[in-house]
Amino acid sequence: TSMPSVTLNNGAAIPQLGFGVWQVPDAEAAPAVRAAIEAGYRSIDTAAIYENEVGTGQAIAAAGVAREELFVTTKLWNSGTRDWSGQQGRDAVRRAFDESLERLGLEYLDLYLIHWPRPMHGSFLNIWQTFEQLLEDGRVKSVGVSNFGPQQLEVLLKESSVVPVLNQVELHPHFPQHELRAFHAEHGIATEAWSPLGQGKGLLTEPELVKIAEKHGRTVAQVVLRWHLQSGVIAIPKSVTPSRIRENFAVADFELDADDMAAIATVETGERLGPDPQGFDWS
Ligand code: NAD
Repeated sequence: TSMPSVTLNNGAAIPQLGFGVWQVPDAEAAPAVRAAIEAGYRSIDTAAIYENEVGTGQAIAAAGVAREELFVTTKLWNSGTRDWSGQQGRDAVRRAFDESLERLGLEYLDLYLIHWPRPMHGSFLNIWQTFEQLLEDGRVKSVGVSNFGPQQLEVLLKESSVVPVLNQVELHPHFPQHELRAFHAEHGIATEAWSPLGQGKGLLTEPELVKIAEKHGRTVAQVVLRWHLQSGVIAIPKSVTPSRIRENFAVADFELDADDMAAIATVETGERLGPDPQGFDWS
């Protein structure tokens, strides 16, 4: 495949475009991930809470692509009832990691993420210290975070010698996260966009984006994904429709010019689709 990679702060490389499987039922995950791998995707993003690690793992096993060519990410779920502090918390994190690997049917994971920081619990540092141990054990190649803000990243940078390889956050032209991206760049943390297509909602009918798509003979989804790539962001679009899965991957062979990039910047609304991670405590 001709998809460019981003080199992470530990030397590992992640394809800049990956395949996300949120809201894909377990039984549909296998055919969807299979279609993605056939289309050329080599990076897959799942999570324990998506409840489709089994189907995702089945597709990986059946794909006929060498394990080392794939980059598999999953995430540690929040649990409101569990106490993540102290040794009990550490044991729970290890158990959750083991269970995810087992459901995926993998010997090792490329990337494990803390799904949400839940700063009100003050436990993410303890979780991160357990991630450091998992890294030492060698069954995960890289560790990172999701939905963290600068406040939480500062704590990790100060208290830990392991810098998250990336922070996976909501990011799309409506909500481009300028400040967080600058913070990441300053500290060697890569930015990964979730809901990169704005969940297929209003973003894909923005008149400015439609114009750019027409100019290039592309779809709006392709223009948006191309914008992510040219912004240096890692993106993980989701679809269960094989033609769209292929369409979303076919963005390495055209380029947006400076006028296009400037026009895309004008659609920013500053509005999130998802919850504000600083107050989010769903479990
Ligand atoms: P997305 O922005 O990738 O949009 C997906 C939706 O857009 C599809 O369901 C479909 O309706 C539409 N779509 C896809 N391709 C299209 C095309 N070519 N043309 C027209 N419409 C198209 O949204 P997402 O699924 O929310 O995000 C992608 C991935 O990010 C998820 O699957 C998941 O892996 C990850 N994610 C992570 C978090 C987190 O908290 N870390 C939260 C949300 C999502």
